[in-house]
Amino acid sequence: MRSRTLCGGQPGGSVALNVIMMGPPGAGKGTQAGRFARERGLLKISTGDILREGIKAQLPVALRAKERMDRGELVDDETMVAIVRERLLRPDAQRGFVLDGFPRTVEQADALDQIVAERNNGPLVIVDVRVPEHELVRRLAGRLICVKCGANAELTKDGSPVATVCGKCGGELVQRADDNEEVVRERLEVYERATKPLVEFYRERPTFRVVNGAQPQERVAHELDTVIDDAALASARVEKAVTGKVATPEKAART
Ligand code: ADP
Ligand code: ZN
Repeated sequence: MRSRTLCGGQPGGSVALNVIMMGPPGAGKGTQAGRFARERGLLKISTGDILREGIKAQLPVALRAKERMDRGELVDDETMVAIVRERLLRPDAQRGFVLDGFPRTVEQADALDQIVAERNNGPLVIVDVRVPEHELVRRLAGRLICVKCGANAELTKDGSPVATVCGKCGGELVQRADDNEEVVRERLEVYERATKPLVEFYRERPTFRVVNGAQPQERVAHELDTVIDDAALASARVEKAVTGKVATPEKAART
């Protein structure tokens, strides 16, 4: 069982895998977070999606957040922490989670550390998906999403959409309200100012990893899988060195 990965996808495994997908808007972290969570049987939590669904459903919290979102500004920490805390304490999050779009401030990251400590289940792996700024602007300004299923439209090399309807469900493709150029610039600025300092916050941890997001999607996916498994194993080794115990009862029985 040397190749056993630490994740919730294994029925016998008792250690959850908790992942934060970091990176600027347009880095592709939403797509990758969705894929990784699906493949490993983890709960994907995208705070942007939760807010947009909340707006569709006319929830007061989300409607209060809408103005800030439309301007490309951050929604307040208290609201965001409450939303994430509620999800992370649900039963379907106990095998682990992939966070997309949270934390975005040091205050949110502090709150997340507390929640993870309370759950006391599995390492927190932090992946920073890096993409140069000119590439981000190009991707976001040309991005179309499906109104029905939320998937990103496939783009050709020159950035125009391959089809006029969603390749997955046939839904209509539209530009996201905050993907126009002015708001894109604001979102990138907010990222530099508020969210980039988080890299400093996490950098020294043994479970922090960097991935090159400016590659074809399958390459990014492969790199992500590799570094996340590596970080989870590194953390299990640290745990073993500190406590003298292996991370899972299943493994203990075999050593
Ligand atoms: P992006 O593509 O820019 O990463 P998201 O879909 O993650 O966008 O989020 C869209 C908007 O929702 C953000 O610009 C912000 O207004 C709000 N939002 C989402 N997550 C957070 C968060 N953790 N803290 C504050 N605001 C958030
Ligand atoms: Zn669709």
